[in-house]
Amino acid sequence: MKFWNRKSKEEKTVVELNSEITCPYCEHQSMEVMPTTACQYFYECTNCNKVLKPINNDCCVYCSYGTVPCPPIQENGGESACC
Ligand SMILES: [Zn+2]
Repeated sequence: MKFWNRKSKEEKTVVELNSEITCPYCEHQSMEVMPTTACQYFYECTNCNKVLKPINNDCCVYCSYGTVPCPPIQENGGESACC
């Protein structure tokens, strides 16, 4: 009798949750922690208080203005399959 060899190691994608958003209006940069449960569609700049929205059909403000794309994008290897 043989047992199935189960992969004991789970290769987990390391998801970076910190993203630095650069405001397109005042170029103020702010380090934010991204939510993993939902995409953030709006972001209010902490400096000029303008509300940022995603550009070019991006799913969230982090994909448009952040240094790191949102967690679902990272998990899908760069494909915009979230939301
Ligand atoms: Zn701003």
